[in-house]
Amino acid sequence: MKRFLLTAAALLLALPGLRAQAFDDDFENATLRLDYVFCGDNAHQAIYFQQALRTSAWAGRRNNLSAPLLEGNGQIRVLDPETGRCLYANSFSTLFQEWQVEEEATRLQKAFENCFQVPFPKRPVDIEVFLLDTHRNRSSYLKHRVDPSDILIRKVADNGHSASVIWQGGPLEETIDIVVVSEGYTAAEKAKFYSDAEHVATALFRHEPFASHRNKFSIRAIFAPSQDSGASVPRRGDWKRSVVDSHFDTFYSNRYLTTSAQQKVYDLIGTVPFEHIVVMVNTPIYGGGGIYNSLTIMNSDHPTFNAVMVHEFGHAFGGLADEYAYGEQVETPYPADTEPWEPNITTLHDFAAKWQDMLPAGTPIPTQPDDLDSPFVSRLWPTFTQEQKDLLNLKLGVYEGAGYQTKGVYRPVQECRMRINECDEFCPVCTRAIIRMIEYYTR
Ligand SMILES: [Zn+2]
Repeated sequence: MKRFLLTAAALLLALPGLRAQAFDDDFENATLRLDYVFCGDNAHQAIYFQQALRTSAWAGRRNNLSAPLLEGNGQIRVLDPETGRCLYANSFSTLFQEWQVEEEATRLQKAFENCFQVPFPKRPVDIEVFLLDTHRNRSSYLKHRVDPSDILIRKVADNGHSASVIWQGGPLEETIDIVVVSEGYTAAEKAKFYSDAEHVATALFRHEPFASHRNKFSIRAIFAPSQDSGASVPRRGDWKRSVVDSHFDTFYSNRYLTTSAQQKVYDLIGTVPFEHIVVMVNTPIYGGGGIYNSLTIMNSDHPTFNAVMVHEFGHAFGGLADEYAYGEQVETPYPADTEPWEPNITTLHDFAAKWQDMLPAGTPIPTQPDDLDSPFVSRLWPTFTQEQKDLLNLKLGVYEGAGYQTKGVYRPVQECRMRINECDEFCPVCTRAIIRMIEYYTR
């Protein structure tokens, strides 16, 4: 028995070498940045290639190369042109697709920048990019060849912005690499930015499951001065000269703080290796956003920073959906005939793919909420006992109302970090989804 264990251990030791070999067969330790424009309206979309750049060392995963854990609203794939074999794939969501369910998209065609990173290929490869509609069907597709010897692949040089390590949980090549980018901080506010950037680590690591997996992450902060201090607030006519052009009122929604200038964000990061971006906007105004494998954007100074930061990172890193509901939507992102790919909501179209395995036997579907759950739960939350809070946060069921809809979309618990700001913790389903994602990157 002991002999067998030794053999198994020896095999495990050999595994990282085998994985590294597979990566090295096809890729250099470098990053190919690919810039695209996604454009169209709610009915038709198209993808156009813009430019290729060679940026940093490769910070991404070296295992699970060809299979994204979640489907996402789109994917980028690197293919061997001769065999068609997928060498690398990543999934993502986009601001462009969020906009497509807005009324504006019924009468206007718009274009959105999107940047992606793939490992730098050793030989010519085909790059495939596609978007999926709300029924998980391909809505647009582009395939193009990239030859690594192409002289027009721009070699990005150090841009001179200063970078600082906020948190280093382990060796850089083994950790999930987050980079925090300054937005709306003047040269005189550099120290404030680095202090604010530390709050990203504080927020994440006071919440499970990030707290117990803190050694799987590293966080760096990059400072680039803006001409003006603060955030652009269009509803007040207040526009700042800031480095990545972020603003509130995205899609005319007050609290929706985003940036459409993805190329500016990537240019600002330059040659610093990273996997996930947090744009830190120097403002006390409430707002933020998180888009799966695209970016997290946060206000720096609102009292809800910790809660909102973790919620938005839940979207951007974990691919989690919002568990709250507004009321009936004109156009839903979660139609009844399709199971959403997000792990923490279901339309019951294919519930077996979700948390059915975690549900206690005999749980009715749908599950009736307790009396504690009401439209006033946010306000009443501070008056609840820990036992009541645990009941709302931990008692698994299939509760109707999630993904912006009061009907037809279901959530795993009554209250979760992905539903109300007052509830500090993720529900068991969100927790499992985040742990799976951490393990997907690091195992
Ligand atoms: Zn949840």
